[in-house]
Amino acid sequence: MKTTKALVIEDSATHRKLVESILAKSEDDHFAIETAQRLDEGLQKLARTQYDVVLLDLMLPDSEGMETFDRVRQQSGHVPIVVLSGVDDVNMAARAVEAGAQAFLVKGETEAKQLIRAVRYAVQRAHAEHAEWDAPMFHLAQQQFLKAAHLMGLDDNIRERLLFPQRSLVVTLPFRRDDYAEVETVFGYRVQHVLTMGPTKGGIRYHEEVNLGETSALAMWMTWKCALMRLPFGGAKGGVAIDPTTLSRAELQRLTRRYTTEIITMIGPDKDIPAPDMGTNEQVMAWVMDTYSQHIGHAVPEVVTGKPVSLGGSLGRREATGRGLVYLVSEAAAHLHMDLKRSTAVVQGFGNVGSNAAKFLEEMGVRVIGVSDVNTGIYNENGLSINALSEHVAKHRTLVGFPDGQEITNRQLLELPCDILVPAAMQNQITGENAPRIQCKLLAEGANGPTTLEADEILNEKGVFVLPDILGNAGGVTVSYFEWVQDTQNYNWTLEEVNDRLHKVMVDAFRRTTMRAQRDKLDMRTAALIEGVQRVAEAKLARGLFP
Ligand code: NAD
Repeated sequence: MKTTKALVIEDSATHRKLVESILAKSEDDHFAIETAQRLDEGLQKLARTQYDVVLLDLMLPDSEGMETFDRVRQQSGHVPIVVLSGVDDVNMAARAVEAGAQAFLVKGETEAKQLIRAVRYAVQRAHAEHAEWDAPMFHLAQQQFLKAAHLMGLDDNIRERLLFPQRSLVVTLPFRRDDYAEVETVFGYRVQHVLTMGPTKGGIRYHEEVNLGETSALAMWMTWKCALMRLPFGGAKGGVAIDPTTLSRAELQRLTRRYTTEIITMIGPDKDIPAPDMGTNEQVMAWVMDTYSQHIGHAVPEVVTGKPVSLGGSLGRREATGRGLVYLVSEAAAHLHMDLKRSTAVVQGFGNVGSNAAKFLEEMGVRVIGVSDVNTGIYNENGLSINALSEHVAKHRTLVGFPDGQEITNRQLLELPCDILVPAAMQNQITGENAPRIQCKLLAEGANGPTTLEADEILNEKGVFVLPDILGNAGGVTVSYFEWVQDTQNYNWTLEEVNDRLHKVMVDAFRRTTMRAQRDKLDMRTAALIEGVQRVAEAKLARGLFP
């Protein structure tokens, strides 16, 4: 759960304490609260610290009315402001909203729930208004693309065309809470980056930080990934800005069905085929498939991949991303003359990708000495049992309390001495700050965008061999493609067939990438990007421009 930094500027001690205690008790949010009693004190705090939200009483000992608002607005920029108004000052509070405050609440008449929701929504709305495209991930995706475009001498016209997605849809959608008293409104997205190559393909992410920029970055990477693997898809991505761990199963189902309905004109087996990503799974895909099918009037399993096998899902899809990554680790080890049976690995993230990667590494004889989830890292230099870890997570939903290892932070985990490091959680984990302390020989990226450009340069200088995300985690979309092929042909493949074909596709992409890297003296990430971008550019030129 993300911490929201709130500054409460309020001179009445009673109201200050009340607001603090209400926010502190919220079950679905975590607030770090600071307070100020006077405007000058508040302004000083705003100058020193980046807050996510300001709760502001307009009538303070050293400033009153709109002057208070204007001065806070000047100092805080885009930070959302929720006005705390007295009963007599409602007109003034309304004027502040007109001037840019997100909301106002009347002191003494506001219930705890209302206050929490007003603050949460203010943060979300301000984010939507000011920062939709402004995501570090989108900057990273664009920078990586521009670097590759420069090195390959990409045609200017095509470069401009590919820098932003072709279609993006932003929706707000409501869903009912279980008590049927509350309706939540959240932001949802679907982005299609390139429609040249065939239908588009990309996962659906449920995470509180999802926005248009992040979704666009992920869609762009999907384009390069599909082209690199020679799959007949353009890239897409979707998501909802919500923390799914705070929802009941019924709430998750209602949210998913409404989100599907909102994006239904964009998706379809010949248009755009979603799949799971962070925070979504087979069950969520089954609900997407059912909602779509209800609209069409008959079952359309081929509208999503990563479904349960009983609904037309492919054998081997669930573990495909981890399995594909480990196929590549095996190729890379041969390339680097590394003996896997004497190697150690550290895996960040113990969800779908991380836990499967850890399992297959263990099966190949690699000693997995560290794993982590959002709550903790677990380290044991003698090796961890992946089975025991999975059983612990199945029971407790977290790695916390795992008995056969030492608890460490995610930061420490990334810096452990090891041969193979697998980031399989979040973006932006290996940065210019920690890259000098990364100690692996092989970085096998399961997550999307885990390494910044600055970190890339440092890792290159250190001689770390990188399996970049668009190659490293492409096993997922590859078996998703197999699932779509099976569904459209009404024909089921055996697990052996799926894994054999996956192996062939992964190894072929690895060899093309390493050959290009060696021939053109490029790092692996740039080589993989150019391999993908070139195919898209060729397809665009072949189709020509309409009209
Ligand atoms: P998941 O939701 O199944 O698991 C995510 C894991 O990361 C969980 O263990 C979670 O606790 C952990 N985590 C979350 N935030 C963290 C943080 N700040 N620090 C450390 N750990 C954290 O998600 P997933 O499907 O395994 O996806 C993981 C990554 O792999 C994402 O970047 C996703 O885009 C990428 N990916 C997934 C697939 C797929 O098939 N699922 C395919 C390609 C790429």
